[in-house]
Amino acid sequence: MNQEKPHTALHLTPEEASERYASEPVDVLIVGSGPAGYSAAINAVNRGRTAVIISGDYRDSYLYKAAIVENMPGMPGKSGAEILDSFRSHALSMGVVEIRGQVQLIVPFPTEDNTSLFQIAYGNRMMTARSVILTVGASTFQPFPGEVPFLGRGVSYCATCDGMLYRGKTTAVIAKAPDAVEEAEHLAKIGCKVLFFASAPDLKKWADILPKDSFERIIPAATFEIAGENIVTALIADRKTYPTDGIFILRASIAPDSLVPGMETQGGYILVSKEQESSVPGIFAAGDCTGKPLQIAKALGEGLIAALSADSFLAREERSERDKSE
Ligand SMILES: Cc1cc2nc3c(=O)[nH]c(=O)nc-3n(C[C@H](O)[C@H](O)[C@H](O)COP(=O)(O)OP(=O)(O)OC[C@H]3O[C@@H](n4cnc5c(N)ncnc54)[C@H](O)[C@@H]3O)c2cc1C
Repeated sequence: MNQEKPHTALHLTPEEASERYASEPVDVLIVGSGPAGYSAAINAVNRGRTAVIISGDYRDSYLYKAAIVENMPGMPGKSGAEILDSFRSHALSMGVVEIRGQVQLIVPFPTEDNTSLFQIAYGNRMMTARSVILTVGASTFQPFPGEVPFLGRGVSYCATCDGMLYRGKTTAVIAKAPDAVEEAEHLAKIGCKVLFFASAPDLKKWADILPKDSFERIIPAATFEIAGENIVTALIADRKTYPTDGIFILRASIAPDSLVPGMETQGGYILVSKEQESSVPGIFAAGDCTGKPLQIAKALGEGLIAALSADSFLAREERSERDKSE
């Protein structure tokens, strides 16, 4: 435990943290609540930093699906769910705040004094942070045909960020996670016509949360293709063509280089240094999202290193601010 800096954990509720850190930056924002995320959060708080995790349901972690884990030192024969539950309650007991939401975009925000600041879009809200640790797990999805070529030309992963471009126009939402419902509702509220696409089983599962009056149409579909010339003109769903101006693809996970535009990746994994630094200063990454072996012990170790590196990064910025003001 760090002797110099006592815990500064504030023990905020998720609502209090959402409000507070919308304007005042949190020291360390962690995306993802698997072993890497909880390890990073525990160690950031241990270094005296404020830490918030934004994540989809923590039970989405790969670890939750492991019936029995045999190679976790000191915990032989426990289930993945038992192990993750214990990481989570440890983190929460230390004052780590966990906010449920899907992060769609992280962008550096220019400041007058050249210190780092990031804006994080999640759900239909924004948060600010001085540093970011990505612990988003391995991304497993295949992009739809046409998705990558039309990215930024009618295809978006973030309704909060790009919704206003389509005000008064027709948008198609492809919902691959329950949080997509909230995002689609945001589009409807700002004046977009929303065609809402999801698989039939998902529509059944989400029946209680679907704001049916808000959407132009709710359409069950399983296969998607994006069509257009220079920009998107239509979504082809289950071989039927739906003319549209914009397509919002809302999944439980987003490819890391779409999450942070310009960040370097290789084979879908985030490129990191031995200190877990990504190619974007102030953004660190840990766990399965940085590559093999995809294992708990690696995720925990990298989460620790990422938190220590984020702390050093913030300390360097604080020193240079002090030097400037002397
Ligand atoms: C069936 C199974 C059995 C396994 N057995 C073992 C074993 O015995 N031993 C072992 O060492 N390892 C095992 N593993 C691997 C282990 O579970 C992973 O290595 C570990 O969970 C990786 O942790 P992580 O924190 O990097 O990512 P994950 O645990 O995958 O967590 C990623 C988190 O990020 C969230 N997320 C992703 N994108 C976003 C976003 N844009 N916004 C917000 N949140 C987001 C997800 O919801 C999730 O909560 C097993 C995996 C599986 C699937």
